[in-house]
Amino acid sequence: MLRHHVVPLLLHCVVLICQTGCYLLDSIGAAESFSHLHLFSNKSNLDQGYCERKRKMNSFRMWRLSSESFIATLPVDPIRENSVRKVRDCIFSVAYPAPFKSGIVLVAVSKDVLEDILDLDVSVKETDDFLQLVSGGKVVLGSVPLAHRYGGHQFGSWAGQLGDGRAHLIGVYTNRYGERWELQLKGSGKTPYSRNGDGRAVLRSSMREFLCSEAMHYLGIPTSRAASLVVSDDDVWRDQFYNGSIKKERGAVILRVAKSWFRIGSLEILAHSGELDLERTLLDFVIQEHFPSVNMNDSDRYLDFFLRVVLETANLIALWMSVGFAHGVCNTDNFSLLSITIDYGPFGFMESYDPNFVPNTSDDERRYKIGNQANVGMFNLNKLLQALKPLLDPRQKQLAFQILDGYSEHYYTRFTELFRAKLGLLGESEDDNYLIAFLLRLMEDTKADFTMAFRQLSEITQDQLKELHIPQEFWALHDLNKHRSFSDWVTMYLLRLRRNIGDSDSKRRKRMTGINARYVLRNWMAESALQKAEVNDFSEVHLLQEVLRHPFLRQSAAEKAGYSLRPPVWAKDLKVSCSS
Ligand code: AMP
Ligand code: MG
Repeated sequence: MLRHHVVPLLLHCVVLICQTGCYLLDSIGAAESFSHLHLFSNKSNLDQGYCERKRKMNSFRMWRLSSESFIATLPVDPIRENSVRKVRDCIFSVAYPAPFKSGIVLVAVSKDVLEDILDLDVSVKETDDFLQLVSGGKVVLGSVPLAHRYGGHQFGSWAGQLGDGRAHLIGVYTNRYGERWELQLKGSGKTPYSRNGDGRAVLRSSMREFLCSEAMHYLGIPTSRAASLVVSDDDVWRDQFYNGSIKKERGAVILRVAKSWFRIGSLEILAHSGELDLERTLLDFVIQEHFPSVNMNDSDRYLDFFLRVVLETANLIALWMSVGFAHGVCNTDNFSLLSITIDYGPFGFMESYDPNFVPNTSDDERRYKIGNQANVGMFNLNKLLQALKPLLDPRQKQLAFQILDGYSEHYYTRFTELFRAKLGLLGESEDDNYLIAFLLRLMEDTKADFTMAFRQLSEITQDQLKELHIPQEFWALHDLNKHRSFSDWVTMYLLRLRRNIGDSDSKRRKRMTGINARYVLRNWMAESALQKAEVNDFSEVHLLQEVLRHPFLRQSAAEKAGYSLRPPVWAKDLKVSCSS
């Protein structure tokens, strides 16, 4: 599908009017039964909060969520019953989190999300209110928990209605910088979109999403964030590898935040069911809230919107490739309209370089292998275009296809820029694509570790490279050096580095170590932390959190844990599946 350049990787290669801070309990049938669960019912505090929000808060007295922007603009399902069903003519259904029954423990929080995004002092994590909020035990004033109705193409085929089957959008928080963040609980119980699911998530998958979404942020990749992870003693039954071995696991919930949780599937379901007025309403809402550079009065605004999604999706996938990240389930319901990484499932960071790397053991056809992500991006954008088509006139349709055609070129341009930077190259040279492709081919042939090969190229000096004097600890470069063409590549690389204007070797190494991570969340690291977490030892979760906040900085604790060493032998057979 994509035009072939020289980069081999590419080849293989998402009623109720609620005034701010006030609940309309009477209008939500279900809410009445939950009213005793509401946090902070002291209404006298309601109006004061905003201007006092300059400092970080260590209690929830002044902290408010609002669901108003959704409910005032987008239709909500009139049926309040929380039963699995086909839903129509709305964007959301009101659905309340189902509190855990036993043994709720706070595993971890992201200090940065609490403090920088939610204006909360990290000490708030010690409070019972916090535990109630992040486990779905209580609902804050101003929040009308919602489950979003969306559809999607799963593994290439239209799957019909999907929706938030185990997630609750508990409201929008507007922080001290005026940023609007949507808060969502995941694993918090059934909704009308739960289909055959139990509405729950288990510790292993919740921990992986918690750690990885934060890690991706620190790698500089657009992503949802995660504020907290709680585990309970409630039983959740899972057949982890779909082989009939059903095991008891513990239910967990993460509180995750994003500027928006709308997906390609959010629009697709409306187009598929012919709800075009509603599709226009949703699109206008998304554009108004999240695409400030698109002119709302322009009759070509949907085209303009599409152009931006195309460019940003290409950018996102190029960024994934630059860190060896495979999402694992690139269905249209998992592709954000804001082009951020969402819905972490059986993802993986590629270790030995392999364009056929598939992190998800349930992906038999290897559809979502790492080398196919760019193609899948195109497929998903085409599905977005199909959803937009009924809203476009003939001229606009034609232009939209031209925009889509530009995807590959934009992707390759970004890919090349990112890999040029990974190699410390300044400016542009005709042979850069070749130099990049050549190196990736050597990596593929020698199965060298993707992350550490780039990292070690960042740490080694040009003099050492010239002599092929590779220090012992540079194990990934030793693997590369087994290739008879490595010295040819090095010669080419050194020649190219000489063309860097105004550079020095120390400057090059500083630049490169600033963008080539030393630590990524390898499956074995997550697995090792999980094994301890299963017996309530969360020390390794906390270690990983801290290490992955600074992926470019050599850290003694990380070195001691072996995070920059060859993956342990036991990790070879690790598997991750869709079961979560
Ligand atoms: P995912 O693969 O996690 O992106 O989920 C695909 C669809 O299945 C979404 O509509 C999810 O809400 C739904 N889903 C996944 N797991 C569950 C579950 N345990 N209970 C209810 N719905 C689920
Ligand atoms: Mg999903």
